[in-house]
Amino acid sequence: MTEHRLTARRWQAIQQNDHQFDDQFWYGVTTTKIFCRPSCASRLPIQTHIRIFLSPQEAIAAGFRPCKRCAPTGQPVTNQTWVTEIDQILTAHFKDSLSMTTLAALAHGSESYIRHTYKRVTGQTPQQKLIDLRLTEAATLLTTTTQSISWIAAESGIPNTAYFTTAFKTKFHVSPSHYRKEAQHANR
Ligand SMILES: [Zn+2]
Repeated sequence: MTEHRLTARRWQAIQQNDHQFDDQFWYGVTTTKIFCRPSCASRLPIQTHIRIFLSPQEAIAAGFRPCKRCAPTGQPVTNQTWVTEIDQILTAHFKDSLSMTTLAALAHGSESYIRHTYKRVTGQTPQQKLIDLRLTEAATLLTTTTQSISWIAAESGIPNTAYFTTAFKTKFHVSPSHYRKEAQHANR
């Protein structure tokens, strides 16, 4: 019968990027919810985070997404699909100190390739998008809470208040405190 265990032989195949095992099994990584062929050159996952699948369909049914790098379904993942996945990662993590290295690991691609592809499809870099998400969140918090600017900056994922204020002015053309006053005025 079907066998979903991570056997020693399979683990070895994953470690060695062994092409001989492609189309025999696929592996998903529970922390990223991405699945790969055994031969994939992506970063080696932690053994306990691996789930074995016997078909790509099985992995998709379990909620895993195909890796961009090794295209485990046999069809290349389109750039648009990939950008959507990167957006999901950015939205889920913008409040944390998400580095581009971490993003690259989560999205299974090199930093330069991610930046290039993301910019080509969306017109902005992942870093710009990240700042945008953080400032949009900050603007919401400014108008919906009475918390201090430094608290809001940290809560939005930009713990450096001076940098936050500068970036905020660049996007909204007013300071955070001015933005809050205007919003209060508009709501009266
Ligand atoms: Zn892969």
